[in-house]
Amino acid sequence: MDCYRLEVRIYQRPFRMPLQTSHGRWQVRDGLIVRLENRAGQVGFGEIAPLSWLGSESLERAIAFCRRCLPMVTAEQIMQIPDTLPATQFGLGMALERLGHGARSPITWNCSHLLPTGVAALQVPLVPGGTYKWKIGVQSRQQEQQWLQERLQDWPLGAKLRLDANGGLDQAAAIAWLQVCDRLNQSTPVIEFLEQPLPADQVPQMQQLGDRYTTPIALDESLATMHHVRHWHQQGWRGIGVVKPAIAGFPQTIRQVCTDVGLDVVWSSVFETPMTQRFIAQHLAPVAGDRAVGFGINHWFVDAGCHGLEDEDLWATLPPLRT
Ligand SMILES: [Mg+2]
Repeated sequence: MDCYRLEVRIYQRPFRMPLQTSHGRWQVRDGLIVRLENRAGQVGFGEIAPLSWLGSESLERAIAFCRRCLPMVTAEQIMQIPDTLPATQFGLGMALERLGHGARSPITWNCSHLLPTGVAALQVPLVPGGTYKWKIGVQSRQQEQQWLQERLQDWPLGAKLRLDANGGLDQAAAIAWLQVCDRLNQSTPVIEFLEQPLPADQVPQMQQLGDRYTTPIALDESLATMHHVRHWHQQGWRGIGVVKPAIAGFPQTIRQVCTDVGLDVVWSSVFETPMTQRFIAQHLAPVAGDRAVGFGINHWFVDAGCHGLEDEDLWATLPPLRT
C-alpha cells in the first residue's frame, strides 16, 4: 500500500484592501499547504484553499480532516476523501500527482483581469488584447450600461470584456443586457460573454436565452461541482463553463468530467497561491481551450511577491499546523 508522510502548514495572505463580497468584507485569504513524502524521499506539494460561501467545506473542516490523517496518509485514504470536502480532495490530489515532479518552469498564459466594480472601472488603464471582467447587477442597469458605453469609447484594440452578473439578474434584465451586448458586438466583438445572468438553478432558461442571442452565455455558480457539470450537460447545457478547480474536487475527476462533456472551460480562481495556479496551467489546462484564465488576481495581495517563490521556499516561510 502506498503510504506517505503528511505535513500541513497554514498560510494567511492579507488583501491589500478588503474585498467586498456578497458575504461581507474579506480581509485575509487563509488556507493550507500540504506536503507528501514517499519512502523514496520524493516530495509533492498541494494546496487546500476552501471557500465555504462558494459551496466548499470550511477551512476548519479541512483542518480537521488533515489532523485525523497526520502523520501518515495512504493513497487509499486520499482517494476516499468524501465529496463534501472538495477543496481537500483537490489539495491532496494535487500533492499526490506532483510527487516526484518538481515544479516545472512557469508558463505564460493569458489572464483575465478583474476591474473594480462600478464607475471605478472607468479609471483603470487597459492594454490592447487584454481580457477584462466587470461585475454587473450591482447598481441600476441604466447607470451600468451608461458606464459600459463610456468605457468602450476608449477600448483598446483586440481587448475583450466579460460581464459577470453572479446570478443577480431576472429574465427581463438578462434580456436587456443581451440586447445591449449583441448591439455592441455587431461592429467589433468586444463582449466575450455574459456570465451567469440568472440564479444557479435556472440553467434551462439561460440555455434558451443563449439560443436567442448571439452573445455567448457562460455558467459559473450553476457549475459549482463536477456533479453539476455532468447534470446540466445531461439536461442539455452546451456552452461555456467557469470552473474553479481548487474547490471542484480531485484534479483527476475535473479532467475526466470536462473532457467527457466537452465543456468550453474558463479556469477561475478562489484566490489560491501561484503554486496552485501553476499546477492548473500545467496539469489541467490541456483539457481546456484557449480562453483567458481568471487568475489576474495576485495584485490583490500584499505579498504579491510570493508569485516568484519556488514551492520549497514558500513552504519554508509557513508555520506548521499545531496538533
Ligand atoms: Mg463568476
